[in-house]
Amino acid sequence: MSLRLYNTLTRSKEAFRPIDPAHVRMYVCGPTVYDLAHIGNARPIIVFDVLYRLLRQLHGEEAVTYVRNITDVDDKINARAAERGITIRELTEGTNAIFQSDVKALGCLDPDMQPRATEHIVEMVDLIERLVAKGFAYVAEEHVLFSPAAMDAAKGGWPRYGALANRSLDEMIAGARVDVAPYKREPTDFVLWKPSKAGEPGWPSPCGVATPGRPGWHIECSAMSWKRLISDFAGKIACEAAEANVFDIHGGGIDLVFPHHENEIAQTCCALNAPRMANVWMHNGFLQVEGEKMSKSLGNFITINELLHTGHFGGRKWTGEALRLAMLRTHYRQPIDWTVKALEEAEKTLDRWYGALENLPEDGAQPGEAFMAALQDDLNTPGAIAELFTMVGENPAQARASARLLGLLQMSPADWNALRQADLAIAPQAIEALIEARLAARAAKNWAESDRIRDELAAKGVALKDAKDPATGEMRTTWEAKR
Ligand code: AMP
Ligand code: ZN
Repeated sequence: MSLRLYNTLTRSKEAFRPIDPAHVRMYVCGPTVYDLAHIGNARPIIVFDVLYRLLRQLHGEEAVTYVRNITDVDDKINARAAERGITIRELTEGTNAIFQSDVKALGCLDPDMQPRATEHIVEMVDLIERLVAKGFAYVAEEHVLFSPAAMDAAKGGWPRYGALANRSLDEMIAGARVDVAPYKREPTDFVLWKPSKAGEPGWPSPCGVATPGRPGWHIECSAMSWKRLISDFAGKIACEAAEANVFDIHGGGIDLVFPHHENEIAQTCCALNAPRMANVWMHNGFLQVEGEKMSKSLGNFITINELLHTGHFGGRKWTGEALRLAMLRTHYRQPIDWTVKALEEAEKTLDRWYGALENLPEDGAQPGEAFMAALQDDLNTPGAIAELFTMVGENPAQARASARLLGLLQMSPADWNALRQADLAIAPQAIEALIEARLAARAAKNWAESDRIRDELAAKGVALKDAKDPATGEMRTTWEAKR
């Protein structure tokens, strides 16, 4: 049994062979911290967290380095800070703090590193100057532009420009004809560096450009992956020199394939003379909400934070773990439809699973074999979860160990129950008072009132259970959170 992953670059599922099994390296494009992350943004975060956990399980915790960047320089950030009358730093710090707490609530491990773009300007300038020196980029009107045509003409042993997205340069030229900036030699040339206007953040520009400037979007990931996964480990990588600039896995959402990842590959290969940037390219499918594209104009735009802390979706808040389970019930490459019904089901499933773990001592159980086989088949999480449903009844300890590999069932059943009860639409004291009132109604044979109270509680997510106390023979009513 070995890990197989679908590679966007080769359009096939391949056995995963790390460059150095003692040092597996993964880079995932992280958030642009100008606004709260939406539930679509949560998908790559959760999916690659599962992959990170699986790699740690297979290769050892110390053997995996996961880097997820924070984009803190961007035109949207500048515009939003100006709009709100705060500094860029205040905006990016505040947004990032909420992002970190949101993804923690989703049960995600911290990546080993979360580098910020603004802390890697030196590496970006270094790469840009190499590209210009080698003839892959040029300076025009204080911009620095990358030339895909120059990349292809050089025949440098790297894949042609467009190989990842499976598009030809001619197709792209035809597609890019509208509104081409005058300083571009070809419509497909893309920005590595641009001049900053007064009031915009700026750094000393590369290649002798006098005006301070700022990076284009794509160069930051070439710079951060190079610095954090390649040069910081120089000398520690057991591989041939020609391969020294290649790392194992690069991930992100499917919308990043073109142009972002295509351009990252172009920059990295040409600047570092690398045959490839990463061996495996993985992309998650898109998330839509109740069958529609999520957008602000449709009014169905929903942030992770709102799902966790408000009633904006389905009229109630949701546990981070239910959000996570709902996300993983669809295979990562498929589109996912985000629905209230799926969240309700996820929460019911977790109630059941935690219920099965009550009084189960912690032990050294390992994940089940069929579960592992599903997960290793290109992260088949729906298959792995189907195995969990079976396992929970047959071997709860093994089910718990398996679920934990998905980042689920991390807390104790008591903590889960407390969390669910804290989330109820009614306080526990009020429930107890209604139970008393119902028992009184039953004693008076007022069945209509007794039923009304039970229904009122059910509507608030509380289920009642009547049973005779075996010691006294008296009727006793207990309750549990159930949705
Ligand atoms: P952005 O902040 O738009 O650059 O997106 C951050 C990450 O979220 C990228 O990996 C995107 O591909 C991903 N992403 C954005 N929107 C969605 C969506 N609706 N469904 C799934 N992934 C998304
Ligand atoms: Zn990126």
